[in-house]
Amino acid sequence: MTPAGTIALPAPMSDGATTRLFAALASAGIGARFVGGCVRNAVLGRDVDDIDVAVTSPPETTMAALKVAKIKVVPTGLKHGTVTAIVEGRPYELTSLRRDVETDGRHAVVAFTDDWQADAERRDFTFNALYAASDGTLYDPFDGRADLAAGKVRFIGDADRRIVEDRLRVLRFFRFHAWYGTPPLDDAALKACARHAGALGDLSAERVAKELLRLLAAPDPSDAIEAMSAAGALARWLPEYDGSRRLRALVAREPKADGLRRFAAILRADSDATAIGKRLKLSTQQALRLEIMLAPEPAMDLAGDAPAWRAQIYRLGTKLYIDRLLLAVEAPGDWRAALALAAGWTPPELPVSGGDALKLGLKPGPKVGALLDEVERWWIAGDFAADRDACLAELERRATGA
Ligand code: ATP
Ligand code: MG
Repeated sequence: MTPAGTIALPAPMSDGATTRLFAALASAGIGARFVGGCVRNAVLGRDVDDIDVAVTSPPETTMAALKVAKIKVVPTGLKHGTVTAIVEGRPYELTSLRRDVETDGRHAVVAFTDDWQADAERRDFTFNALYAASDGTLYDPFDGRADLAAGKVRFIGDADRRIVEDRLRVLRFFRFHAWYGTPPLDDAALKACARHAGALGDLSAERVAKELLRLLAAPDPSDAIEAMSAAGALARWLPEYDGSRRLRALVAREPKADGLRRFAAILRADSDATAIGKRLKLSTQQALRLEIMLAPEPAMDLAGDAPAWRAQIYRLGTKLYIDRLLLAVEAPGDWRAALALAAGWTPPELPVSGGDALKLGLKPGPKVGALLDEVERWWIAGDFAADRDACLAELERRATGA
């Protein structure tokens, strides 16, 4: 594989820890190059988080070399050739050069090789087969850099064949388009995705959810999700899809991307959050948040004033209030002012508790809870101005019926 120029490596790919790792591999005679997302992002000048490294040695040899250098190493996926090295607290995924021996539509049987070109050929998109040596020498066997500059997500080789090897690549195509693509989408790829959309049902729910949420977390995922739906690649997993209109409005108003909130924005308002959570195997926490984001009640009262907003923030909690506020793209009122208020105000705690009610001589039981609810409503209606003494007096007044 011939070099294709050099790139400047950002700090995580060139600092002391990384240098130590590459030195340890080199002294054992192991060839190593950065690959995948970190090189792609370094080329673009975007943040690099995960560092993937391709190595010429089989995993056992890699592990032995790192042990000699006293670098911690974990056998994370020996069968697939992956071990994780940890240097100064940072993980590095080291994967042996591979070629696919057998594919079944999702999981490939791989053979280790020392052939860089073979390793590149089994990768999905041209810009995901960029490699960089530790001195910044770039290897670009499929002109991925040009595609990246043009915003073209292009399959390596024949799109149909690559999708038949691994159907997940349909979802990856749209995800990478959301993050790195510029319309129009690659026509050959799009048509191939449409042809194989019917086979996506066999994917695991967790993978589908992960891909979808990552797609939606892109700066503006609207075109990608529309294209995905138009290709028929969404219907099997998300018949509730309702177009990108609300998503576009949300993207325009939100301070920070949030995949799950954006997910709520593409669903029909009457969608069953519990059913979606089960189908996509969302975590309990995600499913619950989705349910609250989709619930018709309480209606977002943005036409009101600050006390009304505070009352809702208190009831929902700041995070869920902001979710609902940002999603209420059709509610009239000053959503910017409400958002600023929510971001800058910490809901107080009710200054009285059950213990205070018992001290007044009340017997433990549902009556105490009901009484506290009454005082809480009174306290909220007064815009949280009443302090502990005032709340105690109100509790006593209501407890004694005075
Ligand atoms: P990110 O981590 O930002 O999603 P990435 O490119 O690092 O981007 P990973 O899923 O971490 O993506 O995979 C690392 C590399 O492995 C990819 O860049 C690609 O070369 C290859 N790869 C991953 N999944 C597949 C796949 N399903 N088919 C072919 N190649 C793949
Ligand atoms: Mg990665």
